[in-house]
Amino acid sequence: MVFAYQFDVAGVMVILTSLICAWIRPRLIKNFSIYLKLLIVLAILYNVLDIITSVLIQIANPRTYYVTYFLLICYFVVLFMVPYRATLYFYELCGEKGKSILLRVPLLIMLFLGTVGNIFFDFFFKLDKETMIYSHGVGLYVTFFYYIVCAFSVGDCALKHKRYLGGIRLRLLLAIFFITIIDVVYQIFLPQQSLTGLVIALSVAMAVVVFCFIDVTDDELTGLNNRVGFIRSCDELMHKQDMTGYSMIKIQVYHMQELNERTGMDNGDKVLLMLAKNVKYCADIAKRKAICGRIGGDTFAILTDSEVSINALAKTTESEVVQNSLTGSDYVVSFYAGGYRLTEGDTDIDSMLDHAGYALKWVSGNFKTNVAFYENEIRHEDEHRKTVEHKVRTAITEKEFKVYLQPVYNSMTRERVSAEALVRWIDSKNQMINPGDFIPILEKNGFITELDLYILDEVCRMLRNWQDQGISIVPVSVNFSRVDVDHPSIVDDIVATVDKYGLDHSFIKIELTESAFNDNMSRIINVLQRLHDLGFPIMMDDFGSGYSNLNMFKDMPVDIVKIDMYFLRNIENSEKGMIVLESVVHMAKRLGLQIVVEGVETQQQYDYIRKLRCEMIQGYYFAKPMPSEIFPDQVTAG
Ligand code: C2E
Ligand code: MG
Ligand code: MG
Repeated sequence: MVFAYQFDVAGVMVILTSLICAWIRPRLIKNFSIYLKLLIVLAILYNVLDIITSVLIQIANPRTYYVTYFLLICYFVVLFMVPYRATLYFYELCGEKGKSILLRVPLLIMLFLGTVGNIFFDFFFKLDKETMIYSHGVGLYVTFFYYIVCAFSVGDCALKHKRYLGGIRLRLLLAIFFITIIDVVYQIFLPQQSLTGLVIALSVAMAVVVFCFIDVTDDELTGLNNRVGFIRSCDELMHKQDMTGYSMIKIQVYHMQELNERTGMDNGDKVLLMLAKNVKYCADIAKRKAICGRIGGDTFAILTDSEVSINALAKTTESEVVQNSLTGSDYVVSFYAGGYRLTEGDTDIDSMLDHAGYALKWVSGNFKTNVAFYENEIRHEDEHRKTVEHKVRTAITEKEFKVYLQPVYNSMTRERVSAEALVRWIDSKNQMINPGDFIPILEKNGFITELDLYILDEVCRMLRNWQDQGISIVPVSVNFSRVDVDHPSIVDDIVATVDKYGLDHSFIKIELTESAFNDNMSRIINVLQRLHDLGFPIMMDDFGSGYSNLNMFKDMPVDIVKIDMYFLRNIENSEKGMIVLESVVHMAKRLGLQIVVEGVETQQQYDYIRKLRCEMIQGYYFAKPMPSEIFPDQVTAG
């Protein structure tokens, strides 16, 4: 009876573990499969019955005979149910179904013997009516045998599905297998001192803790796979069957953060749950097995073979309306999906998700459609991006980036007054890559800052050389990207580079494109103000190409505006265009800004600009960007 008290501890352990887990991860516990929930209940029940029957036998009151007898029967029923339920649960975990019949037949026989049978032939135990002394029947050994059968089924299943289970689950299952075997052997030799309660409690508590904290593969909110679970299930499926015809689909709620902010987190969750339902539906109706999951906050994924399900998905991506719980106003929610069709030899799930993700990103800025596959144009673009990213790492050390200079002229005197540094990438195959083809990519991966500082360094070195050779120099403007402004040490880096060559700061103009001025204004003002105070002229490039607020000139430390070349296109035939350009020039002049007009290609355009009295001109009409070496020879325009 000493051991009975150990079981109390065991019973309390499983109750406490489950309660703590339910408290910390309520949603995860809720999403536990029915098998695991039953197992927890049975483990608790087993230990409760164990305590009560021990106490009743100890009291040895013949008046409680029938109650004790009944509770002992319950105890044995639960004793068989635990391994049965546990094994079914582990089968489910491994994705094996349909094997339960093998376990069910012996279970039914034992249930019969344990309940009805026991009354006739003391199969499991004998309870003396007078002394209340209890002894084991042969059935107990049969139960142990059943435990062994179940433990072996679990062990076998675990080994067969090693991949799918992952290291932690596999170790858990093997630990349970060995503990069970040791327990059974122990019981055979010391039948009076059962440790089964402890073993059951330990196993179930371990499983609950593992599935709640260590190896979480379910998403708390939706109950679908999380990223780990999704990748693991896909991996398992891919090792089991031929994947021809399958596609990886990634689905995302458009602007989830905004949705949360505007309609509240609860509404956000509702949208996610609704999408989860659709995603699950798409997976369920697939012809062959499909896997789905929520792999990120607002992102779902499905690995499916069915075109039907892809179409169904397209349906779910139609806009839905959610109501703002506070204001009652409606908010239209849209979803986007990107897909990747698997090809032979595809095994890397991360790269499938990457491809689908690229298609998704592509489509999320597109208003015509909300589903796209990683094919044709999209694949092309992505492959180009990857080659650029790959090649750019060595391009600086190999000196593949060259500085071209395009002169800027005084519109009246046609004298060269300045120049713009424009980067050219001449790769190892001697092919020239235009900035438009690689700058957006470098802006995305952050490499642009390194490149811009390199160009600045080259420009400064060149100016220093010319100055040393007695060649008269003009200020050169260097393009900086919006991304550079966010670089924490950008001002110091620029100053250090220019000072390294002992150049006067007024020789380097800082060019920043107009669209950069739209976001995080305070940061931009701060950076530009510091550069301006250090003596660098500040130039707003491509003015008029974006939608900037003219009002911002009040606060911006800008010295020069460069009017975008698109203003000049067809200007001769467009009266409205002229009016706009004239008022922009007028305003800039009143604000005391210098003006450069870029993209001047014809004599008419030149005449017109001169009439407007804009000081500076840059364009193919005078000179195209040229290799910096030949720049000193081209002193005047035309
Ligand atoms: P941007 O700064 O507005 O540069 C002017 C672009 O217009 C240059 O194209 C130039 O070659 C072109 N251009 C000049 N005059 C004419 C003309 O009369 N007609 C036409 N059609 N085009 C003219 P490019 O060199 O291809 O540069 C494109 C853009 O790439 C630049 O626009 C700038 O935003 C960016 N960029 C170039 N070099 C750098 C750099 O070193 N760093 C950064 N961050 N961006 C750069
Ligand atoms: Mg520029
Ligand atoms: Mg420009």
